[in-house]
Amino acid sequence: MQDAAEIAGGDLSGGCACGAARYRVSRAPIFVNNCHCRRCQVQTGSTSVVNMFLEAECVDLLSGRLSEHVVKAGSGGDHIICRCTACGTALWSYYPRLGRLGAGVRVGTLDDPARVKLDAVIFTASKMPWTALPEDIPCFEATYNPAELLPPDRFSRLEVLIAQRAAGGG
Ligand SMILES: [Zn+2]
Ligand SMILES: [Zn+2]
Repeated sequence: MQDAAEIAGGDLSGGCACGAARYRVSRAPIFVNNCHCRRCQVQTGSTSVVNMFLEAECVDLLSGRLSEHVVKAGSGGDHIICRCTACGTALWSYYPRLGRLGAGVRVGTLDDPARVKLDAVIFTASKMPWTALPEDIPCFEATYNPAELLPPDRFSRLEVLIAQRAAGGG
């Protein structure tokens, strides 16, 4: 059965730096952002982070254990970072907007990050000055309106999660 949200080439797999934590992603991302905000820079110690967002129920931890670390999101709500208990690698996060309904998986932890296509570069206003931006990917000084950027089938998945969250889920 061919599903629009099926991942080309099959499920995505990934894991932490020490190998204890392994996971599988069984649905294509709703959207993929490369974020240059100051919070992401501090959390990663790098120029930016690449996160792919999808339904958390489609992300399965296959081995290892995760610890949860709470920091403040831009909105002021709790951003929960899930890390391998053995080596501390951050694998995914839960953000206030979707709570535990939606996972923001760190694309750098995928076995093959090149299989994920970037949708947008965000918070370029705080990018490090010598960081080059791609010419073929939409770039935004802050955020964007997903209704305008995402294909309808993916935006509708986001709407479902937002509705579930509004109803008290996550
Ligand atoms: Zn580990
Ligand atoms: Zn960010």
